[in-house]
Amino acid sequence: MTNTTNTSAPVALVTGADKGIGLETARRLAGAGYRVYLTARSSERGRAAATAGAQFLELDVTSDESVRHAADSVEQAGGHLDVLVNNAGITGPMRDPHDYTADDMIEVLLTNVVGYIRLIHAFLPLLEKSDDPRIVNVSSGLGSFTRFHDRNRIGAFVGTPLYAASKAAINMMTVQFASLLPNIRISAADPGLTATDLSGGQGHSVHDGTDAIIAYALAARGGPSGTFADRDGTVPW
Ligand code: NAP
Repeated sequence: MTNTTNTSAPVALVTGADKGIGLETARRLAGAGYRVYLTARSSERGRAAATAGAQFLELDVTSDESVRHAADSVEQAGGHLDVLVNNAGITGPMRDPHDYTADDMIEVLLTNVVGYIRLIHAFLPLLEKSDDPRIVNVSSGLGSFTRFHDRNRIGAFVGTPLYAASKAAINMMTVQFASLLPNIRISAADPGLTATDLSGGQGHSVHDGTDAIIAYALAARGGPSGTFADRDGTVPW
């Protein structure tokens, strides 16, 4: 399963991969023959997770220095990247609506949105050296305006204004970058409610939660770009 020494294997990098959806994504990409950089901000947790089948690289998505250092390491090891999975995310605090502060929003956006841009900026030159580059932005159905207005869906009743707004921002970022960079396939994947620390253990398995991410990451050349899907198919914006 480990492909850390196969220099001809395609190369993938996953953020926030010491646990949850990121870890399962890294495992599945390694299982599909990718040389995977399993990145995490904690070197202790990241190294422990990396024994599951991929090479650990320390990366905190909120730090320019950390991301630059990781990009330099990937460049020195092989010079290109085929798949970037922007996965690291936080919910931020859940409060009474009167109590949300600007600092709460900054905290959420710094990881969930600014972090994604920081990764795209740092790794674009390495992606552009791939003959089939792909970016998968892990989003959420909670970022869908259509789903929010569908009162039959449970998501319509979940009050997560900061988190949902960050995921809506990721969705718009995804379509804009996909349009501006036609040679890179860039899509947004919704894991659906998945049993991880983030969801308090509620939801389907991490295997099910990574189906849409893996489908985008491994889609054959000419596959979709600028789209939003979960494991059942297209998610409405
Ligand atoms: P999780 O188990 O809490 O994992 C989140 C990961 O993000 C952890 O590895 C965490 O690292 C990492 N992370 C947070 N801040 C970071 C930073 N500054 N730099 C690097 N890594 C950082 O949550 P999850 O459910 O797997 O979530 C993964 C993605 O799926 C998120 O984008 C989330 O919004 C999305 N999603 C989840 C669900 C769900 O139901 N679980 C549904 C829809 C979308 P630490 O271990 O160091 O904290």
